[in-house]
Amino acid sequence: MTQPVYDRVALIGLGLIASSMFWAIKRSGLAGEVTGYARSAETRETARRIGLCDQVCESAAEAVEGADLVVLCVPVGAMAPVMQQIAPVLKPGATLSDVGSVKGHVVEAILPHLPEGVHFVPAHPLAGTEHSGPESGFAELFDNRWCLLVPVEGSDRDAVDRLRRLWQGMGANVDEMDADHHDLVLAVTSHTPHLIAYTMVGVADDLRRVTDSEVIKYSAAGFRDFTRIAASDPTMWRDVFLTNKEATLEILGRFTEELFALQRAIRTGDGDHLHDYFTHTRAIRRGIIEAGQDTDAPDFGRGQAGGQTGGTDK
Ligand code: NAP
Repeated sequence: MTQPVYDRVALIGLGLIASSMFWAIKRSGLAGEVTGYARSAETRETARRIGLCDQVCESAAEAVEGADLVVLCVPVGAMAPVMQQIAPVLKPGATLSDVGSVKGHVVEAILPHLPEGVHFVPAHPLAGTEHSGPESGFAELFDNRWCLLVPVEGSDRDAVDRLRRLWQGMGANVDEMDADHHDLVLAVTSHTPHLIAYTMVGVADDLRRVTDSEVIKYSAAGFRDFTRIAASDPTMWRDVFLTNKEATLEILGRFTEELFALQRAIRTGDGDHLHDYFTHTRAIRRGIIEAGQDTDAPDFGRGQAGGQTGGTDK
């Protein structure tokens, strides 16, 4: 147990990320008390039943009252309406943060409603699974994963450092970058790959003749990984693409060009091109393993803790 970083933390939205935060905060005693709120009575009821949060409140405003740290854990498109509900009750001197997968849009949505004296420090933990809801979280989700802090102009340095201590206490490695750069990096590493996975599974489904039998039966790692990623929460991913439009379209454009080049190499029998390309991509994969962000175990480490290494890393 370490010293609490905050006396009172409020989690708004009680899904995968918020529930994992709660268990990780409790694991290391990082907050005196954690309050929570979710919009549906069903989720609030589930949260109470499983002991998620010290107190589950009936409104976002009630959960936030007196909190030193408020973390918005709702889909990106829901940040602005939630912020409007809580803005009048945010405590002066408190830190407001979020875990949204897109940062530019969240900053634009929050800043106009930010009360004087409240420190806004956006964040994004690069950890996840294809599961959602209050029962899907686990304390180890953020262990040895990156959490990116995205301070806005004029962000209070002490508030940023304090939030960094919280994420480190939850097991994460912390880095800082600006919102535009974050959105471009995530378009490459997460958003476009998700779109490709959704498309590939959709294509296989079009070929129903095989989907019903061989595709499922013989799906080795490649297609199975696509189906796992494509099972991710539809609301969250709709919001990601609607709000990180520019960067995703830019990367998708480049992807399409590369795909056409490979298509041409296959048609013309240009084996050298294919071999060079695959040699290059193999080196990238090795780099990821060397950086400790994945495992080279034959099953990608799926046998390990909570299926985390199979995470979809939003
Ligand atoms: P989740 O498990 O689906 O939970 C979402 C929560 O937000 C639920 O409590 C839900 O309430 C609430 N919510 C949904 N729509 C809402 C709305 N319109 N207004 C108010 N509340 C609403 O989601 P999650 O995976 O934890 O994701 C939460 C945030 O973390 C998102 O911004 C996402 O981009 C980001 N993120 C996700 C991952 C990941 O892998 N999943 C990783 C990093 C960051 P009800 O339960 O009452 O419906």
